Amino acid sequence: NSVQVSVLGLGAMGSALAEALVKGGHATTVWNRTPGKADGLVAQGATAADTAGDAVRAGRLVIACLLDHASVHEVLDPLSGELAGRTLINLTTTSPAQSRELAAWAADAGIAYLDGGIMAVPHMIGRPGASILYSGSADVFHQYEPLLGLWGASTYFGEDAGLASLYDLALLAGMYVMFAGFLHGAAMVAPAGVTAREFASMAAPWLTAMTGEFEGFATVVDGGDYTVEGQQSLEFSSLDDILAASSDQGISTEVVDMVQRLIQRQIDAGRGKEGFARIIESIR
Ligand code: NDP
Repeated sequence: NSVQVSVLGLGAMGSALAEALVKGGHATTVWNRTPGKADGLVAQGATAADTAGDAVRAGRLVIACLLDHASVHEVLDPLSGELAGRTLINLTTTSPAQSRELAAWAADAGIAYLDGGIMAVPHMIGRPGASILYSGSADVFHQYEPLLGLWGASTYFGEDAGLASLYDLALLAGMYVMFAGFLHGAAMVAPAGVTAREFASMAAPWLTAMTGEFEGFATVVDGGDYTVEGQQSLEFSSLDDILAASSDQGISTEVVDMVQRLIQRQIDAGRGKEGFARIIESIR
């Protein structure tokens, strides 16, 4: 079932999304603010539109992949009349509040709206490992699920348009703290003559194996009882040795200090015998 689809924004990501649609057999119209970026896609079978308005009029489904929230409004505000009765899927990175604002703007204009958060880099689009998170209109998600599947695995979180973005940012939070932890470890061993590459070859399987702990933490957090048997206690989770060894190596202890502070707040509150998952109470 070929869909008349238009893609607004042919940056690295918009181009990858459009290419997957063309290869998937959809009648794809593309537009970019700066001309010239459509040539490769046109050679593959896409149609280039001169203006964003022409692109919107050519598609039942409009995909936006622009720089940010402001650029989405800049391009789409003048076109709200043309978009009315059409469907908009916005894959531009926005905050949860910005996604909700765009959903409300779309609802006022009579535009069916789905918000997406892309968990991939452009070359991963259409390949295994790419994942896109969606929230907003359930009807839009279900109607276009086969088309969305051309880009990667699709997950739908619900009608609140801000949820995909919230989830996206929560996953990135986990990623950045893990990256910082890896780089702390690399800095620790560097004065001993260990290269970052050598450390990475040990750290990758170790950290991968440790993700197996998430499920146990999650069970405790969702159950709300941090005293259940079989957990590593907060008192046992002292990071003093790690901090001392880091200082001995002459490196910053900031990354580990942060975790130690979260632990200490619970110990100070008399919760030292409870499980490590309790540091979520320090965060909350
Ligand atoms: P690029 O910088 O490659 O492209 C940005 C695009 O936005 C260009 O098409 C640019 O047009 C357009 N644009 C910027 N400002 C305006 C404006 N005011 N009016 C009209 N068009 C505008 O970025 P990406 O393609 O990489 O990213 C696009 C979106 O995808 C971003 O929100 C990004 O966060 C998200 N994303 C990207 C990922 C990545 O790895 N690249 C990963 C996950 C999400 P012009 O050519 O005229 O400048």
